This record gives sequence, C-alpha cells and structure tokens, in this order.
Amino acid sequence: MSTSVLVINCGSSSIKYALVSERREDRIFGLAENLGSADARIKGVTTGGAALELSIPHADHEKALETILERLAHHNPQAIGHRVVHGGTLTKAELLTPEIIERIREATPLAPLHNPAHLVGIEATMRLFPELPQVAVFDTAFHQTMPSHAYRYALPKFLYTQHNVRRYGFHGTSHAYVSERGSMLAGSFKQGGWLTAHLGNGSSTCAIWNGQSVDTSMGLTPLEGVVMGTRSGDVDPSIHSFLASNLGWDIYKIDKMLNSQSGLLGLSDLSNDMRTLIEASEQGNEDAALAIEVFCYRLAKSLAGLSCGLPRIDGLFFTGGIGENSAYIREKTVSYLPHFGFNLSKELNDNLKRGTEGRIDHGTGPQIWVVPTDEEGRIAKETEHVVDEVTASATKKLDAEAAIA
Ligand code: AMP
Repeated sequence: MSTSVLVINCGSSSIKYALVSERREDRIFGLAENLGSADARIKGVTTGGAALELSIPHADHEKALETILERLAHHNPQAIGHRVVHGGTLTKAELLTPEIIERIREATPLAPLHNPAHLVGIEATMRLFPELPQVAVFDTAFHQTMPSHAYRYALPKFLYTQHNVRRYGFHGTSHAYVSERGSMLAGSFKQGGWLTAHLGNGSSTCAIWNGQSVDTSMGLTPLEGVVMGTRSGDVDPSIHSFLASNLGWDIYKIDKMLNSQSGLLGLSDLSNDMRTLIEASEQGNEDAALAIEVFCYRLAKSLAGLSCGLPRIDGLFFTGGIGENSAYIREKTVSYLPHFGFNLSKELNDNLKRGTEGRIDHGTGPQIWVVPTDEEGRIAKETEHVVDEVTASATKKLDAEAAIA
C-alpha cells in the first residue's frame, strides 16, 4: 500500500475503524460503541500501540466519525473504504457516487440489519469529508463468480428474475484475502482448488478455484450455512410454518430466534462464545460438548458439500477467531473428513502460536493452513485500487480532451 486508507465498518450502534498504511504494525484501530446512549465511547489503539479510551456521551454516528477523523487527521488519510455487507448484484468495489449509494439502498431488503447502518456511516462521511474519495467494498462481491447452479435456489423462477432471490454469500473480503494469502504461502498463488473456513461469531465456508469463489455456505442472507454463535445456519425451512401453526409465533419472533437465540448459544443454553463452551465442556457440561460437536460436524459437512464445486482439493484454510485460535476445533473438524486424505499434524496444530500463519499438516495429502484474516487490509487494498483506477481514467480523459483541443 502506498497510501493510507481509513476503513470504516458501521453497525447499528457501533463503528469499527482502522487506519491502514504500509506496515501492519503501524495500524491504528478502534471501535466506537453504544452510539446514541449516555455510555457512548471510543476504545482502540493509537500511534505506537498506545491504548485509547474516550467517552463521547450521546454521540451519534456523525459525531463519532467526526471525533475519529479529528484524531486521525494528522495521519492524512487519502481515501475512505466502507465495508458494506450487501452489494446486491454489484460485482466489485465501487467509488461512492449517488448512483452507487442508491444501489446499496436498493439492496437493503436483502440485508435489513446491515445496509441501513452502512448508509448512515456513508452519508455522514460524505458530508464531513466531501474532498476524500470514498469506496464501498462489498462482502458479497467476491462470490459473484459463483455459477448459476450454485447460486440459484430451487424456487419459482420469478422470485429470482423479479425479486433477486438467490444465494449471494458473505464474508467475501475474508475468503478472498485468506485464499490469496494462503495460496501464495503454499506456492501456488491463486491457483488450484481450496476450501476456506471463516469461523468467528459469524461463520461461513467457501470453495475457491483458481482464485475465484465457486460456492459458499451463506445464501440470500448470512443465516444460511454452518452453525454460528447465535445463528442457526441451515434448518428445514418448514420450521417457520411448524412454529407458526403449533406455537403461534409470528415471522419476527421466528426470525429473531433463528438469528439471535440459536447456534452455539441455542444448543448449549450457555453461551455463543466458543472459548466459554470449550471450558465448560472440559468441566463436564454435556450441552456445551454437544454444541461443539454439532458445530464441527456441520462445518465438515459444509466443506464436504462445497468440495463438489472443485475439480480437485489442494487444501483447506482456517481463519476467524475460532479458526485461528482453536487447535481443538480444527482437529475435531478435520476428524469428520477422513475420506479427504487430510493428514493433520497434532504437533504442528497444537503448537501453532496464536495469531500466526502456518501449515499444520504432515506434508502429505491436501494441505491444511491457518491464515489469520485481514478484512481491513483487504478493504484498504481494494479501496486504493479503485481510487487508482478512477484517477488513471480521469487523467486519460483529460489527455484525450487536450489532444482534441
Ligand atoms: P471473531 O468473530 O472472528 O472475533 O471470533 C469470535 C469467536 O472466536 C468467539 O466464539 C471466541 O470464543 C472465539 N475464540 C477466540 N479465541 C479462541 C480460542 N483461543 N479458542 C476457541 N475459540 C476462540
């Protein structure tokens, strides 16, 4: 990276930010949380790794962004990159223009929890910093290379043609970064067939062939797929009519249950946090043990399913808070894939230092790697790329106009 880019990820009451420049060690980052409440604050890491904690009572998104930028202004960011969960049918990162903002707004029914919050952040930064180029980087864009047999649901055609009901996939910046970085470490940059398992509070899997996503576990929304912290992942879609008919639940209650009360939390009746569940299961908590088992089994099943999209499997990359930090979950997941020929090295797996990248198989069979994700770094890189492209095409246009004149 030759420029520094401010990466912003706006949630409904929070803003994650990172100032990304050449060296990862120089990164300044933080989180503004509890926005709109008396307890609003910014917590983060500032120059030289020093901790930052700042109270900003009752600050809204705009006020918080103003405060963040005031503190970062002397670092002179040259562009802003916004993480946007749903880009609808947009296939790549885009410079923010009124037309692109409208396209993000149009995709809101597909990500009703995320896109409105991103738009609040985008509109605030556009007002506050009109002179800075701003780019939207979409979680869905990396998966736009999926073939139609992977992204279509077996539903009436008009739902797709008239209402865009299809599988989109999410976590695209992470799957893109991890598969590129991992295949480079493996000596076959963007070549061959790879599976990625992004395992955090939200989790998804992806199959990548020659650097392009060919299938992924999440669908129309980030609820489909593997078991997550509080999201159910795949369930029989008839659960809606079953709960409505038998328990009298309405659609909002069912949606809330599937998104916020299910997954690891629902199964264990204890926590959505994998560390807590591993500790509890070590102390004999059977519900926690079952939640872990379902998580790993369903994950392995998803990876096996996605492998149908790959002509061959060169290897598997683990990432995300769980994938990067839990040797136990990695080992258990691979143990459910005995027919794939993976040869996990217990020693390399157990001894991989937290937060580092490394290969954890014996050197025979498909490779297994841990690759810490860097979504902010990827968003910054894509932002820089879009800004460079726009600048180059503007220069070309000026040159052509000058030649005509
Ligand atoms: P993320 O959303 O990527 O930040 O990941 C959050 C998840 O990672 C939570 O479920 C954490 O419990 C889990 N996690 C973080 N460190 C560990 C660890 N050492 N072992 C197991 N899970 C972990």
